[in-house]
Amino acid sequence: MSRTTPIPITAVPSGYRLRREILVPAREARLFEARRGEVIQLIDVRGQQVGDLMAWLVGSPHEYLSPSHTISCLARLVPRKGEELFSNHRRPLFRIREDTVGRHDLLVPCCDPERYARDFGQPDHPSCLTSIRAALRDAGVDWVPRGELAWNVFMNNVVAPDGAITTEAPPHGPGSYIELEVLEDLYVVLSACPQDLTPCNAFQPTEMGIRVFERAT
Ligand SMILES: [Zn+2]
Repeated sequence: MSRTTPIPITAVPSGYRLRREILVPAREARLFEARRGEVIQLIDVRGQQVGDLMAWLVGSPHEYLSPSHTISCLARLVPRKGEELFSNHRRPLFRIREDTVGRHDLLVPCCDPERYARDFGQPDHPSCLTSIRAALRDAGVDWVPRGELAWNVFMNNVVAPDGAITTEAPPHGPGSYIELEVLEDLYVVLSACPQDLTPCNAFQPTEMGIRVFERAT
């Protein structure tokens, strides 16, 4: 682990040791492999930042994390500690071990060039989908990401009783994290969302951190 890493210290899960640490620079994305039985932490470095996560089975790219199936399986809009996140075949892919934020969005797609073109007149604005495509290309991984497959980690979307959705600035601070048990061998890609035109990232996109832990014995 680099001594210069800005990723805040987090507790090492009991019985595990650090295998890999990744800094996701602001407005970029990174791909990594997570094996069944490992534990990953997604960490907000500076606070008020959203990460957009996609995941799919190694060797079976047609099965992937599905936010809509997760909502259906849980009968909840937001998963809680102890609950699982599901694939498009309703197979559990992650179990939430810890979550210091507790706010996530599984309803809306990640941001994409069309979002910035349609809603802000800025077709060349960085987007999660563009960042994720670049991360896959850099890693030589052939998988076609789709915006609706993104779990918007820490995103503070509020659903009103009349069905309206409002994006509010996330209130969580630096070092906030979610810890996930990995239930299958997965490819995982995380984007540090570059949205700076709404309160999504408090108008200031910053880095995300990833730690991957393997069993110590
Ligand atoms: Zn985004």
